[in-house]
Amino acid sequence: MSAQILDGKALAAEIRSEVKTQVAALAEKGVSTALAVILVGDDSASQVYVRNKIKACADTGIRSLEFRMPAETTQQQLLAKIAELNADESVDGILVQLPLPKQINADAVIAAIDPAKDVDGFHVANAGALITGKQGFVPCTPFGVMRLIEKSGVNPRGKSAVIVGRSNIVGKPMALLLLAADATVTVAHSRTPDLSAVTRNADILVAAVGRAKLIKADMVKPGAVVIDVGMNRDENGKLCGDVDFAEVKEIAGSITPVPGGVGPMTIAMLMQNTVLAAQMRRGISLS
Ligand code: NDP
Repeated sequence: MSAQILDGKALAAEIRSEVKTQVAALAEKGVSTALAVILVGDDSASQVYVRNKIKACADTGIRSLEFRMPAETTQQQLLAKIAELNADESVDGILVQLPLPKQINADAVIAAIDPAKDVDGFHVANAGALITGKQGFVPCTPFGVMRLIEKSGVNPRGKSAVIVGRSNIVGKPMALLLLAADATVTVAHSRTPDLSAVTRNADILVAAVGRAKLIKADMVKPGAVVIDVGMNRDENGKLCGDVDFAEVKEIAGSITPVPGGVGPMTIAMLMQNTVLAAQMRRGISLS
């Protein structure tokens, strides 16, 4: 039997619509929710991501401020822009699109963002909040994955969850969120000797690797929830995930497609974090 397809596009539209309602409610209180997006250089993939984020702001009524800086921007110039946006009371969220040109240290840039405006959730203060179970901004991609898992109808409590990939922006926060949801969590990576043996044990499998179609049907437990974070190009230049969708959908219980799975959810959660930032900074609670 073929798996349930988890439609990230549809779920993202629902979330954006909830955000739109909240943005309108804040506007009634005289608050204009604003997100500043900084793009340094002319990386083509980054330009597409930024365009999609700006478009999502327009859809939800969030005011976007776009700053395009040339590829030769110095770290000092970027830090000065961040300091200016940190000090700007009208700005709720600050996002610096990664990757940055090599003359700029991304860690120093992330550290410079006011944690109260760090809607990407990458600042160590927010990472620390996630580790210790305190309130903070959760990185958008793993946050969106949790919503997709919820949509699958499978409660992570007591389940075996395997994450392939251990990056600071996806794999590690994903592990912490699933742990907080009471799953028994395993994180696999490039030094894991027998990946199949690990993934076959997963009731919930999250692939965040960046290797086209790495996860094959024989690596998946029948009935598992399979979430594909990867965004790669296949041998024909077509966008594809880390999971071999055509074969794994025949064995999984639920699966996300690429495109149309995790990608749109990442942007929807960014919008949610931004409207949350607006409320937290101004001491307003809409719920
Ligand atoms: P990174 O390159 O930072 O991390 C990749 C991870 O995969 C590393 O931990 C690496 O291990 C591990 N890995 C690499 N090769 C293997 C292998 N053969 N077997 C097991 N593990 C392996 O990537 P990101 O976490 O930033 O992104 C992962 C993927 O998700 C990419 O395709 C990216 O484009 C996509 N992505 C999609 C988003 C979306 O919105 N849909 C958002 C963010 C990312 P090690 O640590 O040992 O090197």
